[in-house]
Amino acid sequence: MTERIIHKARVPGVQPNLQDYPGTLAHFSWGDAQQQLDGLPDGRGLNIAHEAVDRHLQHGRGNKVAIRWLGKNGERRTFSFADLARATNQFANALEGLGVQPGERVFVLMGRLPELYVAVLGALKARCVVTPLFSAFGPEPIATRAAQGDARVLVTTAELYARKVRNLRRQLPGLRHVIVVGDKNAASDDKSLHNWEALVTTAATAYTIAPTDPEAMSLLHFTSGTSGRPKGVVHVHGAVLMHAVTGRYALDLHDQDVFWCTADPGWVTGTSYGIIAPLVCGVTNVVVEAEFEAQSWYRVLAQEHISVWYTAPTAIRMMMKLGAEAVQRYRTPALRFMASVGEPLNPEAVEWGLSAFGLPFHDNWWQTETGGIMISNYAAMDIKPGSMGKPLPGINADIVRRNDAGHVQPVEAPGTEGELALKTPWPSMMRGYLGEQARYQQCFADGWYLTGDLARRDADGYYWFVGRADDVIKSAGHLIGPFEVESALLEHPAVAEAAVIGIPDAVMGEVVKAFVALKPGFTASQALQRQLLGHARQRLGAVVAPKQLEFRANLPRTRSGKILRRLLKARELGLPEGDLSSLESDEKP
Ligand code: AMP
Repeated sequence: MTERIIHKARVPGVQPNLQDYPGTLAHFSWGDAQQQLDGLPDGRGLNIAHEAVDRHLQHGRGNKVAIRWLGKNGERRTFSFADLARATNQFANALEGLGVQPGERVFVLMGRLPELYVAVLGALKARCVVTPLFSAFGPEPIATRAAQGDARVLVTTAELYARKVRNLRRQLPGLRHVIVVGDKNAASDDKSLHNWEALVTTAATAYTIAPTDPEAMSLLHFTSGTSGRPKGVVHVHGAVLMHAVTGRYALDLHDQDVFWCTADPGWVTGTSYGIIAPLVCGVTNVVVEAEFEAQSWYRVLAQEHISVWYTAPTAIRMMMKLGAEAVQRYRTPALRFMASVGEPLNPEAVEWGLSAFGLPFHDNWWQTETGGIMISNYAAMDIKPGSMGKPLPGINADIVRRNDAGHVQPVEAPGTEGELALKTPWPSMMRGYLGEQARYQQCFADGWYLTGDLARRDADGYYWFVGRADDVIKSAGHLIGPFEVESALLEHPAVAEAAVIGIPDAVMGEVVKAFVALKPGFTASQALQRQLLGHARQRLGAVVAPKQLEFRANLPRTRSGKILRRLLKARELGLPEGDLSSLESDEKP
């Protein structure tokens, strides 16, 4: 079969930031890249909020729109870089007024409201450590994370406070202050409860960021592992260099862009690229409060003149369900670059971008632990649909195997599967799992960070995702990546979503079982089940194709949109379900 390649023609207009991939790779140095940043005045270190906000005032962007916020009831608010500088100064002053110390943890629990962005950046100015949480978390995951992360301040809304936090206060003795947005008139005897309006909007608007060590902790992001408690991933201010570089190279951000990252800041993508990277690059960042709804998303793309759009496969697949015609009712001439992250982006989705928007989706790969995009498709580089692309300049990736002694050996032959590994260090590499040194150390060997993802690299240097090491299926001696099987199922016109697991089999070791959600207009039946199994067998061959297939209305997924294969497997085999605090949608069988 000849490989499909989407060739990038030179188009008039915006010239990609990364035009010559091999040349840039050869000459790149982090020292040179540092010039994209200003650093604090007088050599007083590096602070994310200074790079994202304050410095733009010196570069003539004071009046430029930094954040354009679209509320879920049709409200609009814009913040220029100067407005954002003042508001974040106020928040930093408010924290200092409360006696909150640098290094102390400020948790933010709210929907995508403007105050979230002000709180995150203001807390960074005060050199506090920020942990954004998904507002949809229930009391239990909030309490676990706040305790594990030693939350001293919580910023939330009146409604979330009443519904989820008030009853937790006794469990969280270290939580000294709660700053509540909304409900201006609520009087309280509780001295630790503060009203945002009263505390923040009255604070002084001038603030000088104190010297900040680039190695000082900036963000603490919780991510769920296969087992054990959530991991608190530690990031530092110096990570901002990665955000600047990837904003320019992977997302191709230019000064005049209007950027929209659809991720919620409860997930690392929503902070690294929903807040930091666009602002550091000085572009206008659109924030949409409402949750996904295809038509309203198309309206945002069209009406806000979005030029660069960063989204995720789940959303793309949901849009695909509705067909390309639904998009074509909207005109999006400003849109020039589309990217996706978080899950494997199947080739059909890349192609669908072409038919619906006239643009391909550019897949890229990274993790909470890597802090920024590591592997990417670039504006000027040909796309092989289904591939994650190639490593960022400055990032040294490889496909490796660990031998019995725990040593890492790169896999030489192109196309061979192995674990995706990254040479340490890079600016946004995690600096620890909070309080879990041994768990952290296990991720590293021989100067490599081992990602826990299986991948292969082809002869042209493109990386292909195979699966999470713990999701991979071994059947009759073959290693089967769930992504490949799911992609084949997704080619069938009836299939909206697919998840594939291995179930034990006396003869084969494991056999492949598929769970499938259908597109509207298709009904589950034995005939369709046979048809899908036949389609997969024809595409993949008998060894790799699923032997069993079950229909589901929905597949279990995390709040960041990842299908929880391990949960399907645990339920199938009657095993413990593990940490489910990030479970979003679900349907028990
Ligand atoms: P998180 O830390 O929640 O962002 O999850 C990181 C994991 O998501 C990675 O280790 C991969 O398993 C998966 N992931 C992220 N981006 C991609 C991608 N482009 N293709 C396939 N899997 C991805």
